[in-house]
Amino acid sequence: MKITCTLCGSATTAVLETIAGRKIESAYAERLKIVVQAPPESIEYRLCGTCDLRFYWPQYVGDASFYEHLQKLPGYYMDEKGEYAIANRHIPRRGDASPLRILEIGAGRGQFRRYVPGDAYVGLEFNPGGIAAAARDGIDLRCEYIEQHAQSNAESYDVVCSFQVLEHVPNPQTFIESALKCLKPDGTLVLSVPAEDSFLAGSIWDLLNMPPHHQTRWSDAALTQLSVQFHMEPIALVHDRLAPGDVPSYANVVAQIGLAKRRGMKLMHLDARVNGFWFRRRVKQVTRVVGAAVQEGFLRPRGHTVVSVFRKKSP
Ligand SMILES: [Zn+2]
Repeated sequence: MKITCTLCGSATTAVLETIAGRKIESAYAERLKIVVQAPPESIEYRLCGTCDLRFYWPQYVGDASFYEHLQKLPGYYMDEKGEYAIANRHIPRRGDASPLRILEIGAGRGQFRRYVPGDAYVGLEFNPGGIAAAARDGIDLRCEYIEQHAQSNAESYDVVCSFQVLEHVPNPQTFIESALKCLKPDGTLVLSVPAEDSFLAGSIWDLLNMPPHHQTRWSDAALTQLSVQFHMEPIALVHDRLAPGDVPSYANVVAQIGLAKRRGMKLMHLDARVNGFWFRRRVKQVTRVVGAAVQEGFLRPRGHTVVSVFRKKSP
């Protein structure tokens, strides 16, 4: 069976790695104390040769109980995301500062609402706790898929934005199509995702950057080509800077990659070799040096997030 890309439909996709499902299951149990739903026996990590999307196949998508457990992890929902400010800077304002109609897909507790207090804001969200918390603050969140919302809200919004959601969805193509359908002509689409062109690409033990949490990974090339695929005008592609809290992860990845290269090792998802005594000891030494270089400002690496902004073209 030909596996086609979940974003562009191309049949030119290649297997980068094959991951044993039980490895993911046991890593979640050991590291995060979360029992995940039964995974497929093996999951392929694939690259689309046409649009550069990386995706996992077969799809293994987290259920409601999975997300309930995740929400209890400290820092899972952050109140301040750097990308909110980046997005806000790229929302075009009219000269008369009249309010815009803004839709956020996957709104959490409606935290972004605070950045656009003068506008008409609607959020879509599935987490009942998030919807209830937002309602207490008078924020309008609705329990709907974007595909449903688009049916009755075509060309209704000046801005549609979505932060750290696209990488979770099993069908990015209909997600973006529906987001665009909700926009007025010349409206602005803002999508933020974890940046694959950052240290995350080498974070082989980052369980939250693989199924059942994330379904896709987004390089700058994959994001840039969206403008062609969906007939949009590209406005901006902005990487954030490494957050202080991510310095240890960044340094660890740089150390792991450097050491693996010297030993001729190709590191894979959940590669147990990096947990060996020798490897860990060497990584620890290099991590200290790299971490210090970042702290001192000798290195200014990219952070976790990339924000892409597009304008819907007039028909
Ligand atoms: Zn593709």
